[in-house]
Amino acid sequence: MTTDAFLSGLPFWYKLASAILLGAIWGSFVAALCSRWPNGESIIKGRSRCDHCGTELVAADLIPIFSFAWLRGKCRYCAHPIGASALYIEIAAASIGVISVLALDGYQALAAAVFGWLLLPLAVLDYQRLWLPNRLVLALAFTGTLVGPLLTPEIGWMDRVAGGLFGYLALEGVRQAFKTLRKKEGMGGGDPKLFGALGIWMGWQTLPFSLLLSCIIGFAFILTSVMTNKTRSAQLPFGSFLCIAAFALCFWG
Ligand SMILES: [Zn+2]
Repeated sequence: MTTDAFLSGLPFWYKLASAILLGAIWGSFVAALCSRWPNGESIIKGRSRCDHCGTELVAADLIPIFSFAWLRGKCRYCAHPIGASALYIEIAAASIGVISVLALDGYQALAAAVFGWLLLPLAVLDYQRLWLPNRLVLALAFTGTLVGPLLTPEIGWMDRVAGGLFGYLALEGVRQAFKTLRKKEGMGGGDPKLFGALGIWMGWQTLPFSLLLSCIIGFAFILTSVMTNKTRSAQLPFGSFLCIAAFALCFWG
């Protein structure tokens, strides 16, 4: 029996439970990464502390999703409200796992979850800091050469190479053109690299659709911001929109 058949043959409840559990644990790691890395703090060293009173947190305070609900969003020691962003990231990561298991099967479901889980920290960091770290984009691109063929088996190697190359060059071209014409930065330097990494995962064929969908998401984002009067900085987290679009499109094949 192949591993693929083995994965497909597992009971559905087991696949669903594993997706939620793995997702929540990964989400908890991503939340720590996104709050610590931009401040130059170590992600693996040092225990988690309450941001307000500085008390070291114990394992029971750090169970993804449940601790937040159990403690009703407050620090156990000083009762200061805990920011909900970690909770949202954990729920998002668990949802990525659930959607993958519901929509696909076997290796393909696993590959979709890995794709979504790698996109998550990029989407969060671009949204919060307008930052797409090179190391994360590189990890995404590298994983695309290994796991990409499991997610999109119909895409050939040449299509992936072309996707990586054209994806990068297309957005870098737009970026440079904007810079020359408007004499200012219109797009972050990370966006073309991210687009190239997506091309490796999905092939060049999917790139125009990713771009279109991310523009629609961006438009919806602006519309919501205007309607709720939550206008933020002029720069939009385009990388976040690209991540969401790419994850959605990986289910259409
Ligand atoms: Zn506290």
